[in-house]
Amino acid sequence: MNYSYISHLYCPKCLQTYAKEAIHHLCDCGAPLLVEYNLDQLAKDWKPTDLVQRKPDLWRYHELLPVQSEEHVTTMGEGMTPLLPMPALGEDMDLPHLLMKDEGIIPTGAFKARGAAVGVSKAKELGVTSLAMPTNGNAGAAWSLYAARANISSTIVMPVDAPSITRSECALSGANLFLVNGLISDAGKMVGEAVQKHGLYDVSTLKEPYRIEGKKTMGLEIAEQLNWQLPDVILYPTGGGVGLIGIYKALQELQALGWLEGQKLPRLVAVQAEGCAPIVEAWKQGKTESIFWENSRTQAFGINVPKAIGDFLILHAIYETKGCAIAVEEEAILEEQKRVARLEGSFVCPEGAATFLAARKLREENWIKKDEQVVVLNTGAGIKYPDTAEVEVPVLEPGDSLPLDASFVK
Ligand SMILES: *Cc1c(COP(=O)(O)O)cnc(C)c1O
Ligand SMILES: [Zn+2]
Repeated sequence: MNYSYISHLYCPKCLQTYAKEAIHHLCDCGAPLLVEYNLDQLAKDWKPTDLVQRKPDLWRYHELLPVQSEEHVTTMGEGMTPLLPMPALGEDMDLPHLLMKDEGIIPTGAFKARGAAVGVSKAKELGVTSLAMPTNGNAGAAWSLYAARANISSTIVMPVDAPSITRSECALSGANLFLVNGLISDAGKMVGEAVQKHGLYDVSTLKEPYRIEGKKTMGLEIAEQLNWQLPDVILYPTGGGVGLIGIYKALQELQALGWLEGQKLPRLVAVQAEGCAPIVEAWKQGKTESIFWENSRTQAFGINVPKAIGDFLILHAIYETKGCAIAVEEEAILEEQKRVARLEGSFVCPEGAATFLAARKLREENWIKKDEQVVVLNTGAGIKYPDTAEVEVPVLEPGDSLPLDASFVK
């Protein structure tokens, strides 16, 4: 038994292959590379019951991850987040079988930790000492913190508007942090130039092949947590789309291993905000690639990505699973965030709230049927966005009596 069954890298566009031992970024044709495993051999060597005794983190799937030697694993216990029933919110939406995969409790408070854990570990294995990336905040925070743990230096560039807490996370981890008066695409150009000039390891979204392997573990976990019986629909807040591509890849790998016994894959739904919906636009027109979204804006910062380099992979996953792409109204996102907190006691991030809102809308349109099992990804903690929620609270003077009205006594 090997620790990893990684075989090689390949290009999903032109099918060129690359050796696993060397550092690779994009394919010569410009497309992102994906990791291929020896699934035939793994199917013989590995069974679901082998997982039972393992630790509840994403490394329980190490055979299906790219790190070949356990000594390179850099971990903070990420993964195996709860898959929670949402009965009250489900009743409110007329979706009795609503579940939330809650990434809000993962290290760094956002699911970017998954990609960072696997990506940084693999970088360590490949001998990398300095990495660089543009970010909307959460990825930079996760990568710079995991890099610090792996003793790799990091250079991070983020928009000035990115959530300020992520700025602190990067700076405290000792990253070389810069803010740009612009979008993540502007940050990307600056990082690209620095990478050329200074020979840094570029970990921009999908420009290194291993982040997606970390994110795919969300799909592995959902399947395992449902006892290898897939849900009908999975909704995902889509920026770069790495999580959605990853979940699709995970489910295909499980199919190849024979762990899903002829089940249909869940319909995958890409959720975006109306202020930045390139994937939705492409899907509506039946296109296989998206067009750069000008002047994009949304307070769900993690999904403010005007052009995803893996857009063709996102759209492919949607078409293949008979899923869809949907944009939600900006103003309604915070209303939904409030509803989730009131009905279920969970303070989800705006991206997660957008995704619940999408489930609500798709149920109203009857695209999701009442009896279907639906998994919503909450990709991060609401507490990472302290300035997003607006609240009004009375301030009293010492000695005042509380102006309670009777409706507060249950
Ligand atoms: C990055 C991010 C997303 C979008 O993830 P992709 O996989 O790049 O589409 C969604 N939610 C949060 C909280 C994020 O940080
Ligand atoms: Zn190619």
